[in-house]
Amino acid sequence: MNTVNEITELLDQKPAVWTADPGKAPCLIGTRCKRCRHFHFPPINRCTQCLSIELENVPFGRSGTLYSYSVIQISSLGFKAPYAVGYIDLDEGVRLLAPIVEWQDAGLSSGKKMELVVGKVKQDADGNDVEGYMYRPQKNDGKN
Ligand SMILES: [Zn+2]
Repeated sequence: MNTVNEITELLDQKPAVWTADPGKAPCLIGTRCKRCRHFHFPPINRCTQCLSIELENVPFGRSGTLYSYSVIQISSLGFKAPYAVGYIDLDEGVRLLAPIVEWQDAGLSSGKKMELVVGKVKQDADGNDVEGYMYRPQKNDGKN
């Protein structure tokens, strides 16, 4: 076993983490281990649970549950204040950190149902739009 290569392979992430095919709702692309069925996001080349390299790319569902969040009151790094970020628990069992948008009317609270949005996340230093994935409170959440 070549330890350097093993670690490099472990950290080598696949480039496409979300897709927005025309006519289709955008979704995150993760990996699922064919051996132990564990999900990963972003996609990886080796299962973190059983170390198998038998992984497949799979589309994730568009919804999740807000685990925790923070509203930032100072603009920084292309984000205009106030803006929110939070940890979203996906139905696949993956917890990810993402910007939160369209939260002012619905408010935020742990346990709130969230849905995926793909679009402009911020502007880079040159004023160019940077696209990516975000979450917003689900419109039909009974808690609204
Ligand atoms: Zn596995």
